[in-house]
Amino acid sequence: MSPLKALADAERKPYWLDRSIAPEPLPPLTGEVTADLAVVGGGFTGLWTALMAKERDPSLDVVLLEGRAVGWAASGRNGGFCAASLTHGLGNGQDRWPAEIATLERLGRENLDEIERTLTRYGVECSFERTGELRVATEEWQLAGLDEEVSAAASLGGRLERLDREQVRAEVDSPAYLGGVWDRQGVAMVDPARMAWGLRDVCVRLGVRVFEHTPVRSLHDDGLVLELGTPKGRVRAGRVALGTGAFPPLLRRLRHFLVPVYDYALMTEPVPDDLMAEIGWRNRQGIGDSANQFHYYRLTDDNRILWGGYDAVYHNGGLVRTEYDQRDATFEKLATHFFETFPQLHGLRFTHRWGGVIDTCSRFSAFFGTAYGSRLAYAAGYTGLGVGATRFGANVILDLLQGRVTERTELRMVRDKPMPFPPEPVRSGVIQLTRWAIARADEHEGRRNAWLRTLDAFGVGFDS
Ligand SMILES: Cc1cc2nc3c(=O)[nH]c(=O)nc-3n(C[C@H](O)[C@H](O)[C@H](O)COP(=O)(O)OP(=O)(O)OC[C@H]3O[C@@H](n4cnc5c(N)ncnc54)[C@H](O)[C@@H]3O)c2cc1C
Repeated sequence: MSPLKALADAERKPYWLDRSIAPEPLPPLTGEVTADLAVVGGGFTGLWTALMAKERDPSLDVVLLEGRAVGWAASGRNGGFCAASLTHGLGNGQDRWPAEIATLERLGRENLDEIERTLTRYGVECSFERTGELRVATEEWQLAGLDEEVSAAASLGGRLERLDREQVRAEVDSPAYLGGVWDRQGVAMVDPARMAWGLRDVCVRLGVRVFEHTPVRSLHDDGLVLELGTPKGRVRAGRVALGTGAFPPLLRRLRHFLVPVYDYALMTEPVPDDLMAEIGWRNRQGIGDSANQFHYYRLTDDNRILWGGYDAVYHNGGLVRTEYDQRDATFEKLATHFFETFPQLHGLRFTHRWGGVIDTCSRFSAFFGTAYGSRLAYAAGYTGLGVGATRFGANVILDLLQGRVTERTELRMVRDKPMPFPPEPVRSGVIQLTRWAIARADEHEGRRNAWLRTLDAFGVGFDS
């Protein structure tokens, strides 16, 4: 069966959100309410902020306002790789914050452990599996990068297992694999939508008032409190936390640092046991390949394969549009790559195809800040690796709102901002040129051209 035929019946919806277990949305806000803390955004950033605000101080009056449904955006439609890394990978963190990378790695590991403990403590069922991630090389030039990763981790006391061709194929049998690194501790697999829905329920149990289908349209400082305007009501809050991801921000200054980038994924039907046996994959690791334009893939509970990544698409003008969630050229490319990686699965069909928007910034890892005399705080810019890091970001938001000096708020990573993107139309030109150069680097054994080397020298780039 051709890749096109395998895609023919795939629903144009995120698999995770398209299930009968999806909860009913909570009613929207009507009328005026007051709160100590208003959280805007019901993705992982907002959910963790609201949840941990109540854990820090159960008497705090917290509301959460979500424009559509909790988890409908990136948080409920992603690959479900819940990584310890707070810096979009060790290499990126080491390049940018060499003096504090050991601390960042430790804080990241603690954050991931704490996510697991919290899910267990509240009984959130979301198939959280500490199976790790296998990063594979599919071209000779990528093998050196794997070796570098192992020694970089070792220099910080971490242990990654380097697998040769036979060893990696004994784990997961693809003829495309030339070698791999298994990071057993640093990544968990999770069902992202069930995690978002579960965190919503925990928030409600802890006393957070959650309003869905309640977009915040305005933000106004009346001197005493911050006032958030919604279509049928308003919130007067002492403190405001913004966790609005890649969407047009309520704080204008964030527009300089964020670009909305679309990432795409497919889901297969469950792989029959006999075919699964041919591939192996008994240890159920998440897998990522090592090109600049990389694929990520993992198993679900019922042994479907989620297959995503490769294209990272910026639409000129930086708009966020529902129609961008679908991109047939990318789906066809992804399906073709899937069968090249797993020819044994010839004949398998895809049941879902979707995309989603990520909040890319030029340093690929979240940035933080305050406004209105530190009565508002935000975290954004996770650039495609926020499933785990958003909990760290939520803790930073709460530290900043409480005016607390902590190990987190003292980090340069937290205090510094990324390099801003230039304004449009230069922004589109720069991003499209960079995407082209990245694709060329993959075709030329990873060699970076003068443009990418210049960006590297300034510590900026484009990623997903
Ligand atoms: C296809 C895809 C695959 C990905 N795979 C992975 C992965 O495997 N691992 C990983 O770590 N990361 C992955 N990511 C990224 C990850 O999903 C995000 O980093 C993370 O979910 C960001 O969470 P967030 O809460 O900051 O943003 P979001 O989940 O985007 O949530 C923001 C919320 O704010 C709401 N909102 C915005 N403006 C307003 C307003 N004015 N009023 C009210 N509500 C508002 C939105 O409706 C939305 O629900 C992926 C992303 C995509 C799209």
